[in-house]
Amino acid sequence: MKTIGMLGGMSWESTASYYKAINEGVKAELGGLNSAKICLYSVNFNEIEKLQHQGKWDETALILAEAAKSVEAGGADFLVICTNTMHKVAPEIERHLSIPILHIADATANKLVIDGVKKVGLLGTRFTMEQDFYKNRLVEKFGIEVVVPEESDRTTVHNIIYEELCRGVINFDSREKYLSIVESLHEQGAEAVILGCTEIALLIQQAHTDVPLYDTTDIHAAQAVQLAISGMAI
Ligand code: GLU
Repeated sequence: MKTIGMLGGMSWESTASYYKAINEGVKAELGGLNSAKICLYSVNFNEIEKLQHQGKWDETALILAEAAKSVEAGGADFLVICTNTMHKVAPEIERHLSIPILHIADATANKLVIDGVKKVGLLGTRFTMEQDFYKNRLVEKFGIEVVVPEESDRTTVHNIIYEELCRGVINFDSREKYLSIVESLHEQGAEAVILGCTEIALLIQQAHTDVPLYDTTDIHAAQAVQLAISGMAI
């Protein structure tokens, strides 16, 4: 079995979901007492979040590249960056590594393509919903059309992530707000909605809506398991 490198702590609430999903995936595949071989570096999200909101992405890249080098030195065969947003600096991190990165947008898009989804809604941080690093990858590499919420809904989605979900707060009103935003994306033609922030599945799950949801944490973790237990290359 390959060793999965995890760059986590962004936030640790979702890294805990990854850790559980990856181990459950290995157990489901291999049975018995099999569990995942993982090398995890969990950063202090307080530092990262401040830099994000100051637009100091180069500084976040330096911190994450150092952490990723430790993960590689710890024996990881490939790297999973446990956040959608910080894939903004995935190219800078990758330059410091000789192991490959399993990109969260690629993992998600591969599943969308297999399922025949051509137009998808995207929920995530403001950075993920508004900047090009994520959306363009879906459009240009996979030919998937992407719809994001309107400005005031983007603010709602973003604030709930940082003020509640990353702090372990699950609020019923926030769930209702998210579900109505999911509905409005669906009304704009989205056949499915990407939960493009690794904490969102803590708040809304498939049982809450008929609109198909693509949980990036679950999808990323599942593909990491397949890579770890098969001889597949990235
Ligand atoms: N975990 C979130 C994501 O998937 C947000 C936290 C972060 O900014 O990394 O984008």
